[in-house]
Amino acid sequence: MRSLACLTVVVFASVSIFAQTIAQPTVWASKPDIPAFEKTVNDRLAAAQAAIDKIVAVKGQRTIANTLATYDEALRNLNSAAYLASLVESVHPDAAFRDRGTEMVRKVSAAQTALSLNRDVYQALSKLDVSKADPATRYYANRQLLEFRLAGVDKDDATRAQLKKLSDELTDEQSMYERNISDDQKKVEVNDPKELEGLPQDYIDRHKPGPDGKIYITTNYPDAFPAMKFSKSEDFRRRVYLAFDTRAYPKNKEVLEKMMATRYQIAQLNGYSSWADYNAADKMIKSGANIADFIQKVHDAASPIAKRELEMLLAEKRKTDPNAKEIGDHEVSYLNELVRRSQFNFDSQLVRPYLPFAEVRKGILDTASTLFHVTFQQEQNVPSWDPAVETWDVRDNGKAIGRFYLDMHPRPGKFTHAEMSAIADGVRGKQLPEAILICNFPKPTADDPGLMEYGDVVVFFHEFGHLMHWILGGQQQWAGISGITMEADFGEAPSQMLEEWMHSPQVLASFAKHYKTGEPIPAELVARMNRASAFGRGISVSQQDEYTAISYDLYKSKPDGVDPDEVTLRNAQAHTPFTPLPETHMYAAFGHLAGYSSAYYTYLWDKVIAEDFFGQFDHANLLAGPTPMRYRHTVLEPGGSVSANDLVKNFLSREQNMNAFQKWMGEEFENQAAEVVDSK
Ligand SMILES: [Zn+2]
Repeated sequence: MRSLACLTVVVFASVSIFAQTIAQPTVWASKPDIPAFEKTVNDRLAAAQAAIDKIVAVKGQRTIANTLATYDEALRNLNSAAYLASLVESVHPDAAFRDRGTEMVRKVSAAQTALSLNRDVYQALSKLDVSKADPATRYYANRQLLEFRLAGVDKDDATRAQLKKLSDELTDEQSMYERNISDDQKKVEVNDPKELEGLPQDYIDRHKPGPDGKIYITTNYPDAFPAMKFSKSEDFRRRVYLAFDTRAYPKNKEVLEKMMATRYQIAQLNGYSSWADYNAADKMIKSGANIADFIQKVHDAASPIAKRELEMLLAEKRKTDPNAKEIGDHEVSYLNELVRRSQFNFDSQLVRPYLPFAEVRKGILDTASTLFHVTFQQEQNVPSWDPAVETWDVRDNGKAIGRFYLDMHPRPGKFTHAEMSAIADGVRGKQLPEAILICNFPKPTADDPGLMEYGDVVVFFHEFGHLMHWILGGQQQWAGISGITMEADFGEAPSQMLEEWMHSPQVLASFAKHYKTGEPIPAELVARMNRASAFGRGISVSQQDEYTAISYDLYKSKPDGVDPDEVTLRNAQAHTPFTPLPETHMYAAFGHLAGYSSAYYTYLWDKVIAEDFFGQFDHANLLAGPTPMRYRHTVLEPGGSVSANDLVKNFLSREQNMNAFQKWMGEEFENQAAEVVDSK
């Protein structure tokens, strides 16, 4: 209670002292229709092209002012065109508008590719003497040259033309892959109201029979996940799982095979033997072989723990099916929940009444505010594509340092997952960084406070962490090193670390209050929840290792004869102890195969770093002491101005290792052992 009161004072103080709004127009300030949207994107593309022409036209000596600064201006304009097009594609309520968004994404991406293959610009940058510049500027110039070489800029004209064509094709294929997933919302008919037994009452209330007298459950996350976790009907769970894991199939099998072929050709033309190798060349991990190595290391670390957990799931299943010898993929979520209740005396439904959406949102903002020493102020009456969108300013010691938008609830046709998306690059003295959270949490209504699953609260803080990284790292001199522009396989580490804050009884009690009584969540309940949520980490890491291996295997070699169904089945069997459900094709809706391609390892790689980072904080009070500010200064604020391997070393004073990660995975057994010792 006390800590919440303090936080409230901080937030109110910021409102009264700094009531003026930021001068930078909000993203939807002009309320564009389709033609106005297109014009804005086209204007930004034209501004980028003008800057590119200016670089090439320079006569005489190349300077940072006449070359790098102009280049950065081109980049900033291209990025802001890309951000707007992708925003429209992901969130606009009108399908025709979204379609135009997709077209503009493709157009911007073609311009980005053209710049990455522009030999005149590459030569201009390579003639630049940065030896006397500050370290960030030197790092920026050198990293851009590396990226240019990886794009194939030093290849002959015919090869560059071919690369450009392939890159445009790849963009189309990626867009189509993602669109197929969000467009293919499936429905499962409830055959008998009994099939909803076990589900929370508010869920049942929200799923009343339609005009045809039937109840349907969609494959949207807030519909499908609780159904697979709580329904007592095995047959119903199987049907929902089947619908969920056949989304975008068979359409996306063909699109995926095209992406694999296109990517392989791009790698070949650049002199790499596989896409995985090529794609790793500018990452922390550096090569495909290192990815394979990492997959094996994770496998070795997770297997013994996953095996112990499997035995517990089997014992649970045998309570109703005494001869059970195996567990199907579609049963894992449900059995996990039963074990949590029976072995850890924990029912996740006990936590939901403490997690009404509005309180959680406030709590997430207050926690971030305290941790990162910033304040937030909501802007009122800001035009948006949907009335539910909120706009907030971010301030550091009263000074505006950025802005964010929250678009938190599902709408038909909207992006179906949860993500932070950039809106504007931060460039010191020129443009404030902006970003948006696009999520799909239950929407509160007059008679329903929108109670959240605990896991969704963790996701919320995770995504908010990306947003803070974007804004705190967005105070650089250059757009090209602003925000989260470091090696792409570092981006998840800070947010994965922040998930630990949502396990702290103290942090949770500051905002998680019972929606009827106002009572803060009891520390004892959080402790039980933590033990219960530690259960299943070995299994979950095994599943992530499976997805990682699928993502790597699809892209590790020449794709001829590589069958996505075979790769998926083989890795499911190799990495997890569960029986795959025949007729599923999970890869078809595995959206990361488009964006992350072979780099899905990033999630586990960053989890290893995240747990190592977390070890540096005071676990007795996660918001106190000098570590939060040291973390902000050494890891977040540099943005992409140094290499991520240096960010890690600067904070840890060494390279990351697996120790903390291993301990984290087996925490439920460690705690058990500790309790046995305590009780003696
Ligand atoms: Zn993330």
